[in-house]
Amino acid sequence: MRGGTGLAVGGGLGGVLLIALFLLFGGDPSQVPIDSLINQRVGTGQQTDINAECQTDVDANSREDCRIVGYVNSIQAYWEGAVGSYQLAPTTFYDGAVSTGCGQASSAVGPFYCPLDTSVYIDLGFFDQLQSRFGAEGGPFAEAYVIAHEYGHHVQNLLGTLNGGTGETGAESRAVRIELQADCFAGVWSAHAVETGYLEPITREQIRQALDAAAAVGDDRIQEQTQGQVNQETWTHGSSEQRQQWFTTGLESGDANECDTFSADL
Ligand SMILES: [Zn+2]
Repeated sequence: MRGGTGLAVGGGLGGVLLIALFLLFGGDPSQVPIDSLINQRVGTGQQTDINAECQTDVDANSREDCRIVGYVNSIQAYWEGAVGSYQLAPTTFYDGAVSTGCGQASSAVGPFYCPLDTSVYIDLGFFDQLQSRFGAEGGPFAEAYVIAHEYGHHVQNLLGTLNGGTGETGAESRAVRIELQADCFAGVWSAHAVETGYLEPITREQIRQALDAAAAVGDDRIQEQTQGQVNQETWTHGSSEQRQQWFTTGLESGDANECDTFSADL
């Protein structure tokens, strides 16, 4: 989602933690840039220093919050190298509520990007909802997809493609095209994630988790589940098939230039 209103794209993990079964993070620590100072934690819980707590790949493999920090750092490291004008998006982990440049937000909205303060806000509790509310299988890379989608909006903001589309709906609307480009950018990062030095090679199972999450947050799927019918005219994010398709386009090409959802036939 953008701007703090509407339905967020969600990620989720639900009850079963898969992280003990295989290691997601590793690679060469000397190649890992230390830019995590941009990450902060606020909220009703402890005001702990997430940067101090999430230092190593052991932390990232054993704690959900540190895993997300690992994804955030990998995603931003990739875009920093790929887009000359990239500026790190300050990232806030919150629970309950948070005040942002786009107004007050509650955890009900899920992870989101606020273009006005160029920041990403991540409510970790939301990841449970991808399974419970959206019916996704979940898994760590489902989370990665959701997070990467939000930074995709930040890239759009820097590139100038985030403009417009506010209040528009419909299968061919600019709003949908913006969301699909963010999905495509998530795929582009996935294609290069290992190169950032944070992640172990991405497995087919992880890609499947991302595609499953992309389908779960498709407008048609959500409408079917919540209204029992599909109305293309009110779409804001695109169908399950479109979201999967554009994530895949980014993943297979590894090239943000292939993510021109604005002139593409949707
Ligand atoms: Zn979005």
